[in-house]
Amino acid sequence: MTDSVRFACTGCGKCCTGHHVPLTLDEARRWADAAGQVVVLIEAFVVDGPGMPPEQREHVLRRSHAVPCGTGDARVSVTFAAFNPGRCHNLDDNDLCTIYEQRPLVCRIYPVEINPHIPLRPDSKDCPPEAWQQGPELIHGTQLVDAGLQALVQASRQADRDDIAAKVAVCQALGMTTSALKGNGFTAYLPDMGAFANALAQIPVDDGAQWTLHVEDEALVASLREQGLHTTNEPPVYYAFIGF
Ligand code: SF4
Ligand code: SF4
Repeated sequence: MTDSVRFACTGCGKCCTGHHVPLTLDEARRWADAAGQVVVLIEAFVVDGPGMPPEQREHVLRRSHAVPCGTGDARVSVTFAAFNPGRCHNLDDNDLCTIYEQRPLVCRIYPVEINPHIPLRPDSKDCPPEAWQQGPELIHGTQLVDAGLQALVQASRQADRDDIAAKVAVCQALGMTTSALKGNGFTAYLPDMGAFANALAQIPVDDGAQWTLHVEDEALVASLREQGLHTTNEPPVYYAFIGF
């Protein structure tokens, strides 16, 4: 558990390199309009069953959406993220953000965790050691000290809840209906950005599409099939399976 953490950003730019930045629906629209690529990351769970961390029950339920899967139901969580395999295209040669005033919420929040069940661990972040040896107190006990930062974290959590139904409808309209099981991995899609922008411009109606779970672990597959859920372990063609 975190006791007390000080922090001051050194402006090193490492968090802007090699990080896919989760975006709200509005931010994803703006990213698409600015010719950015979005990666779609999907994970699913069964309520009080496979994939659901019991201690995070309320948190994961509120940011997920029920979808039909075989003869059962799953809930999916969808992340639209700025696809940044290298330097973010908004980072200039001096490691400064060229959209600083309009940068996404998650960029404003880093290195703080958004999931309330994950404590901040400086050693898991990209910030250099000196960033943690200076500046005001960031965390006291388990609490974020800065009220402005607290508000940004709350806004990010609320956007996850408000946006999930629309994100699922967009995924379904674009055929992104295979999910990994939460805790077992993600499925990742790189949608055609023209089609993605069109879907975001006018959110499609939820067409009730059937979903499939990409699971390779045989014991897990057996347990999911017992519950009537539809699974696949075929090599992915239109998505990547990022297993843990
Ligand atoms: S939008 Fe700006 S702050 Fe966010 S990752 Fe890109 S360069 Fe960094
Ligand atoms: S990695 Fe940390 S110290 Fe470096 S720019 Fe990002 S927030 Fe600042």
